[in-house]
Order: sequence, then structure tokens, then C-alpha cells
Amino acid sequence: MIDLKNLTIKKAHEALIKGEYTAVDLATAYLEQINKLDKDIHAYLEVFSDVLEQAKIADEKIKSGKAGQLTGIPIAIKDNILIKGRIASAGSKILENYIATYDATVIKKLKNEGVVFMGRTNMDEFAMGSSTENSAYGPTKNPYDLERVPGGSSGGSAAAVAANMALIALGSDTGGSVRQPASRCGIVGLKTTYGMVSRFGVIAMGSSLDQIGPFGKTVEDAEILFNAIKGQDKMDSTTIESPKSKVESPKSKFKIGVPRDFLKMGGIDESVVKNFEESLNRLKELGHEIIDVELSNSKYALAVYYVLCPAEVSSNLARYDGMRYGKRVSGSTGIEDYFLSRQSGLGEEVKRRIVLGTYVLSSGYYDAYYNKANTVKEIIKNDYKKVFEKVDIIATPTTTEVAFKIGEKTADPLQMYLEDIFTVSVNLTGNPAISVPSGMKKVDGKDLPMGIQFISDHSREDKLFAVSKSFLGENI
Ligand code: GLN
Repeated sequence: MIDLKNLTIKKAHEALIKGEYTAVDLATAYLEQINKLDKDIHAYLEVFSDVLEQAKIADEKIKSGKAGQLTGIPIAIKDNILIKGRIASAGSKILENYIATYDATVIKKLKNEGVVFMGRTNMDEFAMGSSTENSAYGPTKNPYDLERVPGGSSGGSAAAVAANMALIALGSDTGGSVRQPASRCGIVGLKTTYGMVSRFGVIAMGSSLDQIGPFGKTVEDAEILFNAIKGQDKMDSTTIESPKSKVESPKSKFKIGVPRDFLKMGGIDESVVKNFEESLNRLKELGHEIIDVELSNSKYALAVYYVLCPAEVSSNLARYDGMRYGKRVSGSTGIEDYFLSRQSGLGEEVKRRIVLGTYVLSSGYYDAYYNKANTVKEIIKNDYKKVFEKVDIIATPTTTEVAFKIGEKTADPLQMYLEDIFTVSVNLTGNPAISVPSGMKKVDGKDLPMGIQFISDHSREDKLFAVSKSFLGENI
């Protein structure tokens, strides 16, 4: 029996190289776990039928001595990242039968490594949401309590890793969609610096905000996956060169800034505040310095995000018109086809964003909303820049509370938007941020995970990994 619960990439790699078990054995163990749990959790929209064939090919690579660290490692992929020849539906009915015609750059890189793709994971439709309840295929459940959400929008990927139905996973983060589910499922999730990872082959939501991000049970696993997918790509002109600088000593002591004003805003659960203070104490005991910093304009980040994101959504989703690809419902005229296809193919939240986005971009409102939001975004960016002249890391809780019950927030979209309060700022500024587990809260007799978010200066993911490993006491 392979101990999936305590397995990491390094442990699996070692065992595969030593021949303690094969990639087929490993994939079989994960498939058994999926068979056992996923009818309740619903992390996967599809488990690929060729998992064992992929594993066999990985075994050949291992036998021939050409294996890398990720060869034979089972990974789950969010349903908005294209894998050639497979469906990518972005959790939407409009792309229910859409088969990708090419590999996303990250997928190409992972194929070269010889990973084993287990399947595609559930998500809020087109990544719009914080709970995975907006999926057109039904919600994913939190492995810690099946009555609760796993967070979103990459809830399927996070739940798959948390329930040991994949060793690692990829998600996408436009306003918190990797970090929030990581926090609510008790795992590690990274939003990379904007441009660090190619977006080529990701179904676009908000192109100036979207980044693909890795999930793992440990910081090291997320780091290994990050290193495998990052890099400049000529297919995505917004990608940047990977930095040369690295934290010199793995035991570095950091200056950690805490934006107290921001944390004083209402709506944060007391247990989260308490857990956050305890986390700061732990960091202090580890020798890091905690100082107060001011990010006074961060309180506007959520409003700015919910202008800019829908604006980009309304433009990006214009391509789902029933003509070029995806679902088509025929009416009596071309324009009617268009209306009918979009009416029946897109869900409520997606339509809400398209309407909001079209509104803020319309003449007469463009200056009042879209332009103003962009101006405030620049101010927020400047605030972060100034703070990072003084500190290495900014720390906040990842979410305002632990996982909520399925259905609890679906009636009021604003309630759902408020979930993003701590996570959206860095999507506006482009900074990288990571969520790591920080403790548990008992609710209705069940232990529910909480997370802490660390943010660093652009291209300094190395600092995020170092401080997170120090916080969790991972080998450094
Ligand atoms: N919850 C946010 C939204 O609904 C962020 C989603 C995401 O990061 N994809 O827009």
C-alpha cells in the first residue's frame, strides 16, 4: 500500500527510481482513491480513460534512466487549461463538447516531464466564483465536510489534492481562485507573478489578471511544479524572464509587513483574526521581524476588481457566439442563433459579469467606471511598491472565514464577491502570493482548515517559498 497521505513529489520520485513501485502502481492507487471518494466529493469532471497507458510510458522513461522529478507523478488539471484532444469545458455548458486542438504551454512542459494527467477538475463556470457552486456540472464538496464548499474557482483541483486523488494540481487565479480553495482545503496554493507562467492555452477570463498556479500538499511540491511550468513564452507576449536572484540562505530572516488597517475592516471572523495573530507570533518566534505597514487604498481593491474583471470578461467571452465553436442553438436568423446559444449555454453569474462589463465599457460610463478603476489600480500598485521598499513579505489571512455551507451564499452575489477581499489586490498589482495552511477551526464537530497568505515583490516567489517553509517547518 502506498501511503498517499504523506506522499510528496520527492518521495514518489525516489520510490519510482528505486523501483519500490512503478508509475502504474502509483496511478492505480490514485484511481482507487478516486473510485472510493469522488462520487461524494465530485472534484473531477472527467477522469481520463488512458491514465494507466500514460503511466506505462512514464515507466519506460524511468527504466531508460531519462526520468525527471515529475516523471510518473499524477496531476489533476483545471478544466480551463487545454490538453490537445481532450475536452476543456471551463465548467460551462457552452463548451460541453469542445475538444482542445492544441496543448497549453504549461501542458506541453508537463508532457515533456512525463507527468500522468489524471483528469480535468471541476470549477466555477469560466472561473467566476469563490465556491465552485457556479459550475454548470454541480458543485464540488469540501473533503473536510461534504456539506461545505471547497472554495473556488479551482475547487476541484484543491479538493483532488486534499483528498489524495492527485498528488499535485494546476488551477488558475484571477482574483484568488488558487489561494482560496487552497486555504479552505488545507493545502498550499500559489498565484505567480503576472507574466511568470504562460497563459497560452488557458481559457481567458480577465487577461490582465489571470495566472495559472500550482497546488501541492507541501510548499516544496508547489515549488517544484512552479519551476516546471514557469518561463518566458513567445506564444504569450505578457510573459517575463524568470529572475536570477534567489534567497541566499534558506534560513533567511524576513521583514514581514502586516496591513493592520486593512484587517480591521468588518466581516472577518474572530477565529480567523485569532489564528492570524497566532501565526504572526509563530513567525516572530522563528526570528522574522513583524512590522505594521499601510496599504490604505487596498479597501478599494475589491471594487476596482469588480469593474475591471467584468470588463475583460465581457470582451473575452464575446467569442462564445454559437458560430465558431462550442454549443449552438439555431433560431430563424443568425442573430437569433447568437442570442439563443448564449442564453442557454451560459450560466447566471457569467451573464451577470457580461452585463456589468458591457455597462462599464459603454460610452458615457467608460470614464466614470473603467478609467477610474484603472487609475485606482495604479494607486494600489504604487502602495505595494512603496511597502516592498521596506519589507520582504506582506502577510494577511487568505479568507475571512473557514469554508461555508453549500448554498449559503448563492442567493447574494455581493456576499460571494466579499470572499475575495484579501486575494484580489495582488491580481491587480501583479505580485505573487501564496496560501499555506495555518490551523484548524472546529465547526459542527468537524475540523476545517484556515490559511495565511504571504505576498512578495514581483518575481520573488523564492521569498514566498522560503518564508512558507519556515512557517510550516518544512525541511530547509
Ligand atoms: N472569486 C473571484 C471572481 O469570482 C476570483 C475568481 C478567480 O480567481 N478565477 O472573480
